[in-house]
Amino acid sequence: MERLTPCPQRAPGRWQLATVATVRAETPRVKSFVLDVPMWMPHLPGQHYDVRLTAPDGYTAQRSYSIASSPLDEGRVELTIDCLADGEVSPYFHEVVAEGDQVEVRGPFASYFVWRGESPVLLLGGGSGVVPLMAMLRHRRRTMPELPMRLLYSVRTADDVIYADELGAEATLTFTRQPPDQWTGHTGRISPDLVEDALADGAATAYVCGSNGFVEAAAELVMAAGLEPAQIRTERFGPTG
Ligand SMILES: Cc1cc2nc3c(=O)[nH]c(=O)nc-3n(C[C@H](O)[C@H](O)[C@H](O)COP(=O)(O)OP(=O)(O)OC[C@H]3O[C@@H](n4cnc5c(N)ncnc54)[C@H](O)[C@@H]3O)c2cc1C
Repeated sequence: MERLTPCPQRAPGRWQLATVATVRAETPRVKSFVLDVPMWMPHLPGQHYDVRLTAPDGYTAQRSYSIASSPLDEGRVELTIDCLADGEVSPYFHEVVAEGDQVEVRGPFASYFVWRGESPVLLLGGGSGVVPLMAMLRHRRRTMPELPMRLLYSVRTADDVIYADELGAEATLTFTRQPPDQWTGHTGRISPDLVEDALADGAATAYVCGSNGFVEAAAELVMAAGLEPAQIRTERFGPTG
């Protein structure tokens, strides 16, 4: 099987100041930030950056954010951040950070959850868990669009669809709370039928990303449909389901 090797995995760079090139509202509570990174190095789809905020009194808060962009976007990374109302870092990004601002970042960080051209693959995302999966989709579209890749994407309502204009034929959405008007597609949580159908093209690797609860439920479904635990790569974003 041909494998994509856009870059070797290396140790992440040092802390550096990135400049916010663009801010885009994806949904009412999710924004994408394109950062110009002076000491940029190529990443593998699935990797993340750490972001560090420092208050005037020296207090710091550090969080991880997946890279949404392809490594072909040299010198830049896109981070997509879901605003948690009672959070420390994500509301700062939503309410304060603007184009031209500088933010401290470090990355890319290696993890098991990377895509190197494995195919066919099934991607399963819940909410903002779609972010690293989008890096995989975007990179595949720009490098090897013929590789089979399917995305099952679970969102609550029509207002919660991130990257709505970019989800192509690879994506199957399901709405767990309020689907769009006239919606004739799937509703409710990702089901055994949906997973079995998505695995029909022979995917031997699954990437699952979202809250703990989503990851556990989706991984169970993928195993019930026949994949072994070693064929399932997971990334968990939050402490709760
Ligand atoms: C490898 C990795 C990649 C990540 N990538 C992304 C990404 O691409 N986009 C993104 O929006 N987030 C991502 N996250 C989550 C992110 O790192 C933060 O945890 C999140 O933004 C909350 O930070 P906060 O400071 O706003 O909230 P905090 O102050 O840390 O928490 C506020 C409250 O929300 C709860 N909470 C914390 N995180 C979550 C969560 N993810 N879901 C639900 N409740 C939570 C806490 O228990 C607490 O009650 C990633 C996490 C990891 C580990």
